Parts: sequence; structure tokens; C-alpha cells
Amino acid sequence: MSGALEQLYQQIILDHSKLRHGEGLLPAPEGSSAGESHQYNPTCGDEITLRLVRNGDTITGVSWAGDGCSISMAAASVLTEIVGGGISETELLTMVDNFREMMRSRGSITGDEEILGDAAAFSGVSRYPARVKCAMLSWVAAEEALLASR
Ligand code: ZN
Repeated sequence: MSGALEQLYQQIILDHSKLRHGEGLLPAPEGSSAGESHQYNPTCGDEITLRLVRNGDTITGVSWAGDGCSISMAAASVLTEIVGGGISETELLTMVDNFREMMRSRGSITGDEEILGDAAAFSGVSRYPARVKCAMLSWVAAEEALLASR
């Protein structure tokens, strides 16, 4: 990865750790179904409850409550921005798979920006095995919340 790209990626993570898009659980609007998942990362102390709202096959909203390190909070914020924008169930599952593959690669997979958008910024985190769970936490929560919403 080039130094400039790495710097850009670090900036994205820093920005989102402050902005925390989607923080604050929102009720599901009438007529839509919701699923929820609580995840805890004991090695770092990160905690998140994520609620996913869907209308048929389309995910119409993501919100969450939690606290933890800047990586876990930034990951939840980026996820909310990407997933909350009306993608399909299949698209979300593809993203989760892609993100997980990237995070398990120990830095060897850069991540597909076409699929992951800003979540590709976490590719550098995969070089630090102790932080992988921090970045994965909200994605695991989203995956489980999706299954719970069925
Ligand atoms: Zn953490």
C-alpha cells in the first residue's frame, strides 16, 4: 500500500471514530421488520448493540449503541453509512464476506473498494491481529442482526 493511501485510510478511520454515524438505537418504522445483535470483544472491551431494519429484501436502516476503542467505533460508523443506504440482503452478506476475508489476511488483501467503499480503509488494521476483532465487531453484529430480522 502506498504511503498516501495509508494516510488517507487512517484519516477515514479517525474521522469516523469522532462522527459515529448511526449512534443511538432507532425504533423500526411500522410495517418493517428489525433484527438486533449484541456483540462484545473481551480483549479490548468494545461493545455494540446493532439494530438493522429491513423492508422485504432491502435494508432500510442501521443504528447502534455501544462504546469502545476508536477502531471499533469507526468501523460501526462506516458500516452505518454504507449499509444504511438501501442495499439488499445479498449485497450486505457479500460485504461481510469481503470484509472478513480482508481482516483475516494479515495485510495481504487490500480490500475491494468497489464492494466495501470506505470500509476498505480498515485493510491496514488486518496487520495487527489484536485489533482485527475491533474492526470486525460491528460487521458480525450486522450479519447476526440480518439473520435475526428474517
Ligand atoms: Zn477495540
